[in-house]
Amino acid sequence: MTTDGFFHTPGVSISVTGLQKSYRTVAGDVQALRALDWSLTPGEAVAIIGPSGCGKTTLLNLLGGVDVASGGSVVVDGQDLTKATERALENYRLSKVGFVFQFFNLIPILSALENIQLPMMVAGKPESERAERAQRLLEMVNLGAKGHQRPEQLSGGEQQRVSIAVALANDPALIVADEPTGNLDSKTTEVIARLLVSLATDHGKTIIMSSHDPKAVGYFPAVRAMRDGAFEAMEKT
Ligand code: ADP
Ligand code: MG
Repeated sequence: MTTDGFFHTPGVSISVTGLQKSYRTVAGDVQALRALDWSLTPGEAVAIIGPSGCGKTTLLNLLGGVDVASGGSVVVDGQDLTKATERALENYRLSKVGFVFQFFNLIPILSALENIQLPMMVAGKPESERAERAQRLLEMVNLGAKGHQRPEQLSGGEQQRVSIAVALANDPALIVADEPTGNLDSKTTEVIARLLVSLATDHGKTIIMSSHDPKAVGYFPAVRAMRDGAFEAMEKT
């Protein structure tokens, strides 16, 4: 299956400076990110590893524009997300970011193909283009024959492959995958991790995956380890 002329948007460059996030709780403030510095260039695939609670989801949410920082900045292709209006962030998410989650987040009453078409409907793509692109995306994740099945009729690994197709529907520059293999066995973990990495190596997308599974992270060309809201000293990449 060729994907020539299928993905047009290369990855993003990201510059994170002094990024902080604290949550106010009844028990006091929780410092989820402490002055993080980081930069990424287009075409990189990076895995973020660290124990539960170290701040992986918080970081991914800030990069994906679904949460607002308490301090510092996140600049994506020159746009400072920490200074963006709610409307600008919404536009950023819709046009630049694809999200993949641990529990797949597919809509149960829709078929695989309909799930993939949904983001394209939101973006106003015409029906004929939606149908063709959805089928090609499904073929890209090796599920071409299962488009009419609903999520409950697919295995966990198949559902996650559909989720990746959904995330790619509008050709995002950045894919943010939060523990995408957290619910999968080791064979399926390999398939998903390799698929995510190929989006960077074959299509130049920027891929960021969080995981606490060293096996999943092992397929990535670059790894950053987090602890207590900060990166540990750089590992070899
Ligand atoms: P990870 O994804 O690595 O497990 P998180 O980013 O979810 O870590 O959480 C980092 C820290 O921030 C944890 O101490 C967590 O309890 C806290 N936290 C996350 N979200 C919230 C929230 N909405 N309210 C309060 N504390 C939160
Ligand atoms: Mg998390």
